[in-house]
Amino acid sequence: MSPTNSLSSGPAPSEAADNAPAEARPSNFIRDAMIEDLKSKKYGDAVIQTRFPPEPNGYLHIGHAKAICLDFGLADEFGGKTNLRFDDTNPEKEEQEYVDSIKKDVQWLGFEWDSLRYASDYFDQLYEWAIKLIKDGKAYVDDLSAEEIRQHRGTLTEPGKESPYRNRSVEENLDLFERMRKGEFPDGTRVLRAKIDMASPNLNMRDPVMYRILHADHHRTGSKWCIYPMYDYAHGQSDSMERVTHSMCTLEFEDHRPLYNWFIQNLGIFPSRQYEFDRLSLTYTLLSKRKLLKLVQEKLVSGWDDPRMPTLSGIRRRGYTPEALRNFCNAIGVSKTNGILELAMLEHFVREDLNKRAPRVMAVLRPLKVVIDNYPDGQVEQMEAVNNPEDESAGKRQVPFSKVLYIEQDDFREVPPKKYYRLSPGVEVRLRYGYFITAKGVVKNDKGEVIEVHCTYDPATKGGNAPDGRKVKSTIHWVSAAHAIEAEVRVYDNLFSKEDPNQLTEAQITEGKDFIANLNPNSLEVITHAKLEPSLANAPVETRYQFERLGYFCVDSDSNPAKPVFNRTVALKDIWARIEKRS
Ligand code: ATP
Ligand code: MG
Repeated sequence: MSPTNSLSSGPAPSEAADNAPAEARPSNFIRDAMIEDLKSKKYGDAVIQTRFPPEPNGYLHIGHAKAICLDFGLADEFGGKTNLRFDDTNPEKEEQEYVDSIKKDVQWLGFEWDSLRYASDYFDQLYEWAIKLIKDGKAYVDDLSAEEIRQHRGTLTEPGKESPYRNRSVEENLDLFERMRKGEFPDGTRVLRAKIDMASPNLNMRDPVMYRILHADHHRTGSKWCIYPMYDYAHGQSDSMERVTHSMCTLEFEDHRPLYNWFIQNLGIFPSRQYEFDRLSLTYTLLSKRKLLKLVQEKLVSGWDDPRMPTLSGIRRRGYTPEALRNFCNAIGVSKTNGILELAMLEHFVREDLNKRAPRVMAVLRPLKVVIDNYPDGQVEQMEAVNNPEDESAGKRQVPFSKVLYIEQDDFREVPPKKYYRLSPGVEVRLRYGYFITAKGVVKNDKGEVIEVHCTYDPATKGGNAPDGRKVKSTIHWVSAAHAIEAEVRVYDNLFSKEDPNQLTEAQITEGKDFIANLNPNSLEVITHAKLEPSLANAPVETRYQFERLGYFCVDSDSNPAKPVFNRTVALKDIWARIEKRS
């Protein structure tokens, strides 16, 4: 699977571009429209106004990050403003918990909204505008059931049929709509529809429903309303009320734009304009709130913030940085065709950012004891270690060295395979920041497994170089046994084992399986007795490190000083860098 053309159409993040005049920067069709509208003074002296409109029915995910970076990023670039507006028109699925998490996630990504709004703030105004449309003969109360409305709607090749209630008088419509509002009718018995064109080639224009009856309490308006506006009736007018100049949403709303414009024109209100861009999809990842909710409800993950989830709270806990995410969003840009990007590309941006900022430390995930027989008992030396070769200002630290150490089990082989240059009997290797050691013998348990390696060291090689210039073929990391901190380390793999988690085999379909069947059974490995160098004691939650030779890790929120817990954010191996190099 290859990345879509959106890769090349997006602006590449670059220092130089930040200082270039607006026209000269890498652009996209939405940004171009902004430049044009500012030039022609389409909105007079008004600044660019955008909004990010999440529905509070789940946690934000990486796809939302793309929308947020566009909405806030473009407005910022032109000195404009962005509102955070909760699209809370569906009381049955919306909750305060989601509102709170969304606010937190937007701020975490590094953006500050100008004004915090709720579509429910506009319920009174929307109701008044509905009455205006009724009075103008442009809306009517329909008694057809939802199913009948569907049947009357027609298809892409056949026109719809008009409802027998379509030509009710204005008076009757006003009376019925008022009584709908007062709660006189049960759920689903009547709706208010716009009177547009049942023969329109665009199905959205075939007398769309504006209001439905729903006797449900709303998280903000309580029991005040028992009729609620549909998304299409609420969205454009909310934009208009906020004087949104450029209203960005994903491509599936393209066919809704004529309706968006119809309401604005027929109400004679501020002419917000909608622009549609491609929805972000990633391999091995699902970005549908409904499906993510199912994972949470069925306890297939530990919660919305499970580090395997593509939610912003999940990847934050996993150790992703907001900078990495913003860089990724800038690099992918926007286009007019949906495609699927490699998850490896996102991971590449995470590594690239962490490489610059994460201090290097030594940690051993699967410990094997090494005893240096000729090292003095009880002696401890402090070895000087560089914190970050990419950042001199990060300085240096001391790492204790002693007679008994831990190394990775993988770094020793009693019988080395071909081209294995790490520790094995008779072979000399470098201990990072330590000494050259040579393996001399092993101790085994009853099962014949090596549980201890005995070595000798060369005192002349302190710091890692031999005065006689002799070379070793590998450098391995270690932790002093007496000084080690024990920790739990959670190592993650893709949550799904298929590139497209929605893809099912014939057999899976006949068995009635869904995407759940494609969960990767090995997406979480818990390592309980990892050994960390002592500088990691009491590291605060979310602190990120590179464990040398292993990957990037961060302190999990389950961590406490008595029992530290680390998440592997991402391994060191960079598949994306290789793909890029090849192409
Ligand atoms: P879902 O289908 O998962 O419920 P949604 O689009 O209904 O997602 P909203 O809360 O309505 O979710 O989304 C808020 C904004 O984020 C919308 O403008 C939407 O277009 C955008 N958005 C949602 N998912 C993506 C995505 N995968 N890529 C880019 N933008 C997205
Ligand atoms: Mg939505």
